[in-house]
Amino acid sequence: MELREKLEILADSAKYDASCASGNSERGGRGTARNSLSGVCHSWTADGRCITLLKILMTNECVYDCAYCVNRRSNDILRAALSPDEIAGLAMDFYKRNYIEGLFLSSGVLDSPDHTMELMIEAARKLRAEPGFNGYIHLKLIPGADQALIDRAGLWADRVSVNIELPSDRSLRLLAPGKTRETVLLPMSRIARRITEQREERRSLKKAPAYAPAGQSTQLIIGATPETDREIMTLSEALYDKMRLKRVYYSAFVPVMKDNRLPALPAPPLLREHRLYQTDWLLRFYGFKAEELLSEAHPMLDPMLDPKAFWALNNLHLFPLEVNKADYSQLLRVPGMGVISARRIIRARRAGSLKLEDLGKLGVVMKRAAHFVTAGGRYGGGKGTEDGIKTKLLDYKGTPGGGDGEPAAGGFEQPELFDGAAGGLSGDSLSGRLNGQL
Ligand code: SF4
Repeated sequence: MELREKLEILADSAKYDASCASGNSERGGRGTARNSLSGVCHSWTADGRCITLLKILMTNECVYDCAYCVNRRSNDILRAALSPDEIAGLAMDFYKRNYIEGLFLSSGVLDSPDHTMELMIEAARKLRAEPGFNGYIHLKLIPGADQALIDRAGLWADRVSVNIELPSDRSLRLLAPGKTRETVLLPMSRIARRITEQREERRSLKKAPAYAPAGQSTQLIIGATPETDREIMTLSEALYDKMRLKRVYYSAFVPVMKDNRLPALPAPPLLREHRLYQTDWLLRFYGFKAEELLSEAHPMLDPMLDPKAFWALNNLHLFPLEVNKADYSQLLRVPGMGVISARRIIRARRAGSLKLEDLGKLGVVMKRAAHFVTAGGRYGGGKGTEDGIKTKLLDYKGTPGGGDGEPAAGGFEQPELFDGAAGGLSGDSLSGRLNGQL
């Protein structure tokens, strides 16, 4: 098989991995990156910089038979595999031509997890050994691989990740019988330990080699199994706390395979995926706990509302907050206020008491925040019932369909995260950062 044909097959097979955003398009750009090439996709660094990666599988052959996966053993598709030399050569060639700034390498399981990992590590090692290669490498690790291989992988890669895929052991046993929760969590905890140890080594010994300096991430498939949003976000919270994950990616289940163990969704639950990303953002940057946002009484997010508005409506007894007295962490919980506007309020009120009219100038989105704050004792929200406030806060104007909150065409309006001043993110750059951050 020609190298180009293999590349097309293996780039196409990699497109369902959300932990590196795919952005193939035929649109011409000003830059030199060629995003119409097979496998070339865009991703975002932690500081918001867009970089271009070659995103491929080493092979789409697999000894496992995960129900949801297009590469599963029992699926009759064209198979291909790249050798470590071919991967390093391709990546270096694209890198030299300025098509890419790095490599995202995942794989089906060839013979065994250890054998697959050996080959992937060798590809990364060869690429690193290429004179002039100073790019980014993200290696997807194979659950069940030996711990020594996990240790070696992190020495060549900037980021490593192990996909959990399904939120519970019960669902793994049902849909991915070759994997167990343990085979996924063990490498994760090994990576977390290596990252911590390596930081300590580097503190005492400056030349100690870096281990996965961009940290680790994982991916969860949303909607293929019956777990609630509460279960999913509780798991994510534990992963951030205990495994020191940089990111959890949520990937709406794409029904590409027919299997009676899978739900018959008419479309991927993209709106639910979006709400989970927003909730994840609240955990990481707004000081929320999963159990506050999703209780036993409300285990599912409201697809019509962003999760902060959903939380605020379930906690109306905490509002309205007086903006001249509330502390920073309280301000962050007001719908329509974000990190930047909350900071501006804290700074501005040192110079004098704030009025409602001042808040818009500080970046607060008053059409949302007005229902939850007072300024100098004045309330700007009018006399609203809970339902009345909810109607005003809706950022989704359609009827959730798709069996799971799939937005009707043109019905989904979420131009901003929580407010325009939440961090200056909006529109494409926001969804890019949310969905493709490295
Ligand atoms: S192990 Fe990975 S590639 Fe293999 S069938 Fe499962 S999800 Fe697909």
